[in-house]
Amino acid sequence: MHDFDQIIIHYHEVALKGGNRDLFEKRLQRNIAAFLRPYGIHSVMRLRGRMIVSLNPHANRQAILDALRRVFGIAYFAPISLAEQNIEAIRSRVMEHLGDHRFESFKVDTRRSQKAFPMNSMEVNRVIGAEVQAASGARVDLTHPELTINIEIFDNQAAIFTEKIAGAGGLPIGTGGRAVSLLSSGIDSPVASFKIMKRGIQIIFVHFHSVPYTSMASKENVERIVSILNQYQYRSRLYLVPFLDYQQHITSVVPAPYRVIMYRRAMLRMAEAVAHRHKALALVTGENVAQVASQTLPNLRAINEVASLPILRPLAGDDKIEIIEKAREIGTFEISTAPYEDCCSLFVPGNPETRANLNMVRRLDAQIDHETLVKKAIESAEVKEFRLYEEDAETV
Ligand code: ATP
Ligand code: MG
Repeated sequence: MHDFDQIIIHYHEVALKGGNRDLFEKRLQRNIAAFLRPYGIHSVMRLRGRMIVSLNPHANRQAILDALRRVFGIAYFAPISLAEQNIEAIRSRVMEHLGDHRFESFKVDTRRSQKAFPMNSMEVNRVIGAEVQAASGARVDLTHPELTINIEIFDNQAAIFTEKIAGAGGLPIGTGGRAVSLLSSGIDSPVASFKIMKRGIQIIFVHFHSVPYTSMASKENVERIVSILNQYQYRSRLYLVPFLDYQQHITSVVPAPYRVIMYRRAMLRMAEAVAHRHKALALVTGENVAQVASQTLPNLRAINEVASLPILRPLAGDDKIEIIEKAREIGTFEISTAPYEDCCSLFVPGNPETRANLNMVRRLDAQIDHETLVKKAIESAEVKEFRLYEEDAETV
C-alpha cells in the first residue's frame, strides 16, 4: 500500500437522529483519537457524515489500521488520497493513487455530497473511467470489478480510495451508559460482554472466585480475558470478589441440588451492589436457555427474581457453535478452554435441580443474611484497572 496521509471513516447514519447523532459523532471522534494517539496522528475531523483522520509523517500506519478495526461505531474505513475539488485535480490524484497497481477490470463509484460541484456522479464516473481505461488497458465491469475506485466529493475536497476495510460496527463505547457483566472464565460470558460493549455500553467486569478452593489460574484467566476485551473498550475495571465465605453460608443451609441456584442468586446480589456503586443500569450474563441445568426456564426465573436491575442475556438464543465462533474471533476462546476450576461446582455433589420450586428457594434463601455477606464480599474485593496504553495508567 502507498504511504497514505489520511484515512476516511464511515459510520452508519441510519437511525441516528437529532441530538443522538451529535452525541454519537462526538463520542466516536473522541474514541478514535484516544485509540490512535500513540501512533502519530495529527487530527480527527468531522465532516458531513464522515470523519477524516490526518496522520503525522512518521505515523505507524499499520498500528493505526489495526487499532481502527477495534473502535465500535465504525462501519468501514479506508486510506485515502485527497484532491482539490476540480475534475483535473481529481483525475491526476486518481492516477497517482493507482500508481503501478495492475488490474484486469474496474469501476468508478462516485458519491457527491457537495452539490455545488459542477458535474454529477455519473459524469465523474465516465470521465475518470475513460482515463483509467486508457492508461491501464483494463476493462470496465460494473457488477464484479476487480478494483473499485471510490471518489467522494464533499466540503471543498475530494477523497479517492480503493481499499475499504470493515470496521467493528455497533455504537461508540460510552454512548449507552454502563452495565456490570458477570464474567466467569468460561466461553460464554466474554462473548456476552463483547456483544453488549458493541452496543456502546461501558462494561464493568465482576468475577467471583473461591480461592484457595479454586486455583489462582482461573483468576489469571479472567484477567487475561479482560485485557483482550479491553482492546475494544479502552479502559476497564475488574472486581475480583471472594465468594468462599458466602458459599459456605449457603452450603450450611441449602441441600446440594439447590446450591447452584443459590450461588447464582448470590452472584446477582453482589453484582447489583457493584452496579449501584458505579451507577450502572443493567447486569449482563452469558446465560443461554437450557444449555445447562441452572439455565432451564424454571431456574432462570428463580435466579432472576433477586435482581431489580434488568439482566441482559445477549446469548439467550444462540447456538453453542455460534458462540464458539464469536469467541474465536474476539480471541477469548483459547483462554476460556484452558483448564480451570469453576466456583459453582464447589460443594455440589450429585445432580442439580432443573425445575426449582420457587417456594422452596425462597424458604431456604430467608435463612441467609445476604445483606451482610454481600457487603463483606464487595468490601474485600480486589479491584483491577486496565488501560489500553501503559502511559495512561497514571492519568486516569
Ligand atoms: P460461561 O461460559 O460464561 O461460564 P456457562 O455456560 O458455563 O457460562 P454457567 O456456569 O451456568 O454457564 O454460568 C452462567 C453465567 O453466570 C455466566 O455466563 C456468567 O455470566 C455467570 N457466572 C458464572 N460463574 C461466574 C463467576 N465465577 N464469576 C462471575 N460470573 C459468573
Ligand atoms: Mg461457566
